Amino acid sequence: MPKTDSSGVVPLVAGVFPPELARLLATAQREITEHGNDHGLCVVCGSAFPCERAELAAFALDAV
Ligand SMILES: [Zn+2]
Repeated sequence: MPKTDSSGVVPLVAGVFPPELARLLATAQREITEHGNDHGLCVVCGSAFPCERAELAAFALDAV
């Protein structure tokens, strides 16, 4: 059973990256999960999807 943080996100990268980077990536992972597409609008921001935060999170994960 994988350990999860308080938000329930599995820290997939824990132990691979330094704690600061692992936390950043876990946050990005959570942002992508929460900022979903609802008929072209972000379910959290209400902005056109993909919203800025989802794009930033995707950028952070792509940079790894
Ligand atoms: Zn959003």
